[in-house]
Amino acid sequence: MNKDEKVIRVRFAPSPTGPLHIGGVRTALYNFLFARKNNGKFILRIEDTDQNRYVPGAEKYIQEALSWCSLDLDEGPNVGGEFGPYRQSERKEMYYSFVKNLIDSGDAYYAFDTPEELDGMRESMRSAGVPSPTYNNISRSSMINSLTLPLDETEKRISRGDKFVVRIKMPRNHEIKFKDKIRGWVSVNSNNIDDKVIYKSDGMPTYHLANVVDDYSMKISHVIRGEEWLPSAPLHVYLYKCLGWEDQIPQFAHLPLILKPDGNGKLSKRDGDRLGFPVFPVNWKNPETNEIYKGYREEGFSRAAFINMLAFLGWNPGTEKEVFNLDELVSEFSLSRVGKSGAKYDFNKLKWFNQQHLRRMDNEEIYDNLVDKKVDFSINPSKEYWLKVIGLVKERATFLDDLKLELSCFLSNKFTYDVNSINKKWNLELLPHLSSLATIIFNLQKFTSSQIEISFHNYLDDNDLSLGKLMPMLRIAITGRLAGPSMFGILELLGKEEVKLRIDRAIKDIQHG
Ligand code: GLU
Repeated sequence: MNKDEKVIRVRFAPSPTGPLHIGGVRTALYNFLFARKNNGKFILRIEDTDQNRYVPGAEKYIQEALSWCSLDLDEGPNVGGEFGPYRQSERKEMYYSFVKNLIDSGDAYYAFDTPEELDGMRESMRSAGVPSPTYNNISRSSMINSLTLPLDETEKRISRGDKFVVRIKMPRNHEIKFKDKIRGWVSVNSNNIDDKVIYKSDGMPTYHLANVVDDYSMKISHVIRGEEWLPSAPLHVYLYKCLGWEDQIPQFAHLPLILKPDGNGKLSKRDGDRLGFPVFPVNWKNPETNEIYKGYREEGFSRAAFINMLAFLGWNPGTEKEVFNLDELVSEFSLSRVGKSGAKYDFNKLKWFNQQHLRRMDNEEIYDNLVDKKVDFSINPSKEYWLKVIGLVKERATFLDDLKLELSCFLSNKFTYDVNSINKKWNLELLPHLSSLATIIFNLQKFTSSQIEISFHNYLDDNDLSLGKLMPMLRIAITGRLAGPSMFGILELLGKEEVKLRIDRAIKDIQHG
């Protein structure tokens, strides 16, 4: 079977070392989109082999973040699946046989060096002019390992329980080549890869071995992950070969970095507070300090906007269209439209997406989200009334919460008048005109926005008044402030009694201008 015809299986494989940052969510999103687009499976695998870096609550956080983003899993720790378990710590026993195979075939070896001995090796290499010394195909010959010790000595050390690690034995001068779906051909000489530790005497594999064994065992067809893993990929490809899985090497796609807004370097977990926006999808409470790190969900962003923004950090549809919901992203997504160069994070663009998605939301959906629908004045609002009100104000909001302010004049007439608005536009000399206008519109046969608008303009013409003078006063009288949606629409919805009452009250209550 041709590789491209394989069943598509992709995995998101975070390590539970802390909260998922937006870069991690983007990796999950691209995996999800790729799987859904190609009728494949989207799998969550928790890579928790490094127990020293394990952070309690991190896995729960990852699951919560994925579920907030609606990135539903086909297989994973909580949903199960035929290739489980999906936590590497629960797969611990599976790895040793592969390590043993590598040792038996001469592709890996035991190493017994203590931390002091490793430091000593680095020190002496540095003083010999090697800038970044590593345990590699040259230095290993002067270290304490099963390649330099007699066989019986190695066996003795293992049987008496000495601490050891297993290292991959990188060959000399060997070209390792693979094709990345985003970067094209990648080629590395094995002399540039150190003899990485693949297994430790505590019975735990390291990331590299566990990652490769699990991708193989879980029949992963495509490895889609962040660019920071690109340097590990040649080693992974080499491990596949050593393990005899050359035909099963997944296709790699290393996603571009997410950069700070000014383009200077990678956006990191620490940048959030400093740059004034969250870097986490949902709130994270540090289990040690109880400190809360803000998430986009709690800051009032919608999942649709958040996902839309993430999708555009590295991918584009090749058209002018920018606003996409998750289904639309699925049908448009392709790895061939993911770029190589880093994508600058743009918080303002996210706000714009939020506004666009709010505009796309059904009035009914917004109605269901706004719990308090009781009004504090004489009308008895129907659902129709609320749907019209929402339609009138929704264009003006960036966040669902902003709507509360925009809706406030429809909820109660017990607002206070905004002092700045009064200072700017309340003109005592024009009060008689405001009062006459109130009477005229009160006597209208049809109290509709278009009728009100016509009589308002007629009144201005007849009295030689400018719109810029009387309109702001009407607005202050009705809503308490200067900004707001179409005034005539507001008047129609409030109804003539309420309008008259508010104008009369404003004339009486606002004494200065
Ligand atoms: N466990 C790695 C991480 O934390 C996964 C890298 C990969 O996807 O291979 O990102």
